[in-house]
Amino acid sequence: MAITQSIRRRGFRKWYERELLIGHSHLVLLLMCTLALLAGMEAFTQPGASRGLIALCLFVATGVGVWALRRYLQLLMRAEIIANQAVCPQCQAYGRWVLEATAPQPGPAEEVDSDAQGGEPACMNVCCRACGRRWLIEW
Ligand SMILES: [Zn+2]
Repeated sequence: MAITQSIRRRGFRKWYERELLIGHSHLVLLLMCTLALLAGMEAFTQPGASRGLIALCLFVATGVGVWALRRYLQLLMRAEIIANQAVCPQCQAYGRWVLEATAPQPGPAEEVDSDAQGGEPACMNVCCRACGRRWLIEW
């Protein structure tokens, strides 16, 4: 689900909490892959071990671990970029805004960003629920 759709449906705070949970579940997966790698290396040195099968498991664990690390960093970076802009510039209320509209990233990088994110908007207009101030959140 796109970021803006998710925020519109759940609200910013729930979206942020959910992004952190999903991100950290990828960190847990990375730790499990690391354990699998260590166990595989230990098993590889044992006599009579099926080295082809163990090598395949090591390869798969490495691939899944790299993917999990990349996804973990991607989710957390994006969540932090948006969370750092979630404070109202006028009343300093954190995360108390509603999404009004989405727009593509302004400037010359517009086409590159929209292609990289599958056409998803790269910024959104938000309105503070406490004071009514409007501002732009970009990622
Ligand atoms: Zn405000």
